[in-house]
Amino acid sequence: MKSIFPLPLLICLVLFPFYTAKAQDFKSVMTSAEYVFNENKIPCLTEAQRDAIKTETQNNIEALKRQNKLAFNESNNRGSHPLFIWPIQQAAGFDYNNTWSISGYVDHNSAYPNQLTDYNCGTRTYDSANGYNHQGVDMYLWPFSWKQMDDNQTEIIAAAPGQIIAKGDGEFDRSCNFNNNVWNAVYVQHNDGSIAWYGHMKNGSVTTKNVGDMVDTGEVIGIVGSSGNSTGPHLHFEIYTNSSYTQLIDPFMGDCNDMNATSWWQSQIPYNDSGISAVLTHDNAPDIFPPCPTTETPNTSDNFSTDDTIYFAAYFKDQVAGDIIHFSIIKPDNSFLYDWDLTVETTASSWYYYWYFSDMYDQIGEWKWQATYAGETVTHSFNISTLSMEEETIESTRIYPNPATHNVAIKTGKTLESATIYDVRGKIIKSVYFNENSIYNLDISNISKGMYFLTVVSIENEQESFKLIKD
Ligand SMILES: [Zn+2]
Repeated sequence: MKSIFPLPLLICLVLFPFYTAKAQDFKSVMTSAEYVFNENKIPCLTEAQRDAIKTETQNNIEALKRQNKLAFNESNNRGSHPLFIWPIQQAAGFDYNNTWSISGYVDHNSAYPNQLTDYNCGTRTYDSANGYNHQGVDMYLWPFSWKQMDDNQTEIIAAAPGQIIAKGDGEFDRSCNFNNNVWNAVYVQHNDGSIAWYGHMKNGSVTTKNVGDMVDTGEVIGIVGSSGNSTGPHLHFEIYTNSSYTQLIDPFMGDCNDMNATSWWQSQIPYNDSGISAVLTHDNAPDIFPPCPTTETPNTSDNFSTDDTIYFAAYFKDQVAGDIIHFSIIKPDNSFLYDWDLTVETTASSWYYYWYFSDMYDQIGEWKWQATYAGETVTHSFNISTLSMEEETIESTRIYPNPATHNVAIKTGKTLESATIYDVRGKIIKSVYFNENSIYNLDISNISKGMYFLTVVSIENEQESFKLIKD
């Protein structure tokens, strides 16, 4: 789970020396911390719960068989095992680069406690003193896991085609610890008789399809939640060769997996699947560790004024000590505000960094905040205008229509001195000076389609800026 300790007790680095700013000297400290999921290593299922699931799925399979509705007769319809796609995905309309990381693989060492062997002979798994050895793959949401769950940002999808042989919904989904609650889940049997368990789903998100219905690969069957024994939103994905449950499967092929000889993935991800989770701008420090299960407050914003403080944050998965992350803050004219390398100090499945700067935004328009890591570059665009859009510095001034095609009118109770249109790079496109007889109207028919900023100045030198779309 996420740490129950306040942020300062986590690994919290405030360091200058290990990065080099090429553009000019840094005027910000760095804040960074690890996000540790399921820190107390609580089991996803009790043995009693696991037995109940086995009984329920076996009873349903018998019932389907009697009704002649069992799609894959286990005794004579054996094909080769399925090849899975990744069982969670970001829903349409969201723009994180990646929404999850792995906290625990299957534990192949039957001894306990703290006798850990994952498929790759490492220790990215867990067990407990009561004899529990983790039997699935745990994929937790990162960053802003509860926010993601509230927003239905990460969907659980069928990793392979099959028949729903059991499902459960309606259970509490904001668990923070071991509570012996039942999880919301879907159980799917594949054409070789193997069975996949998808657990901890969000309450009310479980597919409306019924037991006996078929699902296709990639079909959404739920939303990642925290029902059952869970410390935060994650998917527990557990696989068996058949409904007798004689053989657990670890879908990852590796030297220390003696459950199955081949990978069950279409494309097995690397053991350390390093990548960029998100690159975001914030108008306040992101609130990442509120007490469980409080939804995080990301404080994200993409629209700022030149006098704002902007927080530049980047979120990573499976960062490995010694790796280099490259960061850039790029101005509208493509010059750098800052451009620097950072050396990763700690291997971690999820980690974030942020810096904040003020009084240095000398161009208005579209800026970029960019990170390059593990062979990919993620660019986040944000806008800086001369004054905050929200500040009503000139009483009840507005522009219309917006978007506009030929003319844009400025409605104001003030006497205006000028109006200036800037492009997103901060270049002046058009300036108009008014006199006492002027109609506050700008002809924009000659400028090309796109986004601009319109800044109006009153004779008392008050200013107001608007985002203007030319259609
Ligand atoms: Zn689990």
